[in-house]
Amino acid sequence: MERALIDFHTHPLLVQEMVAGNDELLHAQKKVFDIQNRLQPLETFHLELDVSGLQRAVVLPLDARTAKGSQIFSNEQIAELCRLSDRFVGFASVDPHRPDAAEQLERDVTRLGLRGLKLSPSLQEFAANDRDKAYPVYEAAQSLRIPLLIHAGMTWAPRSKSANPMDLEDVAFDFPDLKIVIAHFGWPWVQETAMLCLKYDNVFADTSCLYHDAPWEFMRHVFTERLPLTLLERSLRHKVVFGSDYPRVEIKNMVRAVKELGLSDQAQEMIFSKNARHLLGEAEATYK
Ligand SMILES: [Zn+2]
Repeated sequence: MERALIDFHTHPLLVQEMVAGNDELLHAQKKVFDIQNRLQPLETFHLELDVSGLQRAVVLPLDARTAKGSQIFSNEQIAELCRLSDRFVGFASVDPHRPDAAEQLERDVTRLGLRGLKLSPSLQEFAANDRDKAYPVYEAAQSLRIPLLIHAGMTWAPRSKSANPMDLEDVAFDFPDLKIVIAHFGWPWVQETAMLCLKYDNVFADTSCLYHDAPWEFMRHVFTERLPLTLLERSLRHKVVFGSDYPRVEIKNMVRAVKELGLSDQAQEMIFSKNARHLLGEAEATYK
């Protein structure tokens, strides 16, 4: 169990060692991602994980060069961060508007050792089921056997409609060997997200539901009022991974919120560990 507990959704936006002194990143952090907090030394990220009882975190970049004129971070920068800390699992991102996006993904995953793909249709301004722009990228991810973590649900970007998880049904159907993780449990489309997770073997979701006022209240609302908790416990426990969306939310508060739902130990072990390790190719699939 040494390195087993994983936060599957974090953004290393505040890591001083990465961002300080880089005007382009500082600008993107504030203007594109709307993160106004102060930068913190890398050690703070480690302490966040420690106090939350987690060992590792997936760190996510986003390549929005066409839509926003910026990327935060580049795939090289994510690989550099992973060299600073073996507690990070680096994902890649590519810009689906660029004709070489699929080749770039293949190249970067292979040469930099990145282990997943992050996309955000709303921030990158593409439709998740766009056959010309997005499908070649999915094809590449599927043959690289890396999971796709894709933003869905509420977004602070202007185009919420491109964050509707129902657009992912085409993708789930057309790429049966691509593991798709619907970020933020697709909130407010949580029933649609649950349906896709039930229906397609290759669809998963993370717990980083937006918007949080108090994480535990919101988590309770989503998983006991909008959806019955028994659905998560009995039918979806092998399809959900813990994700915090740090630094928008403190990891420890999200961990507490999920733990306080009252799921069985077995379901919690799947959500905090086994399912993420399965998606990363470190463990066999777990079944309900
Ligand atoms: Zn996020």
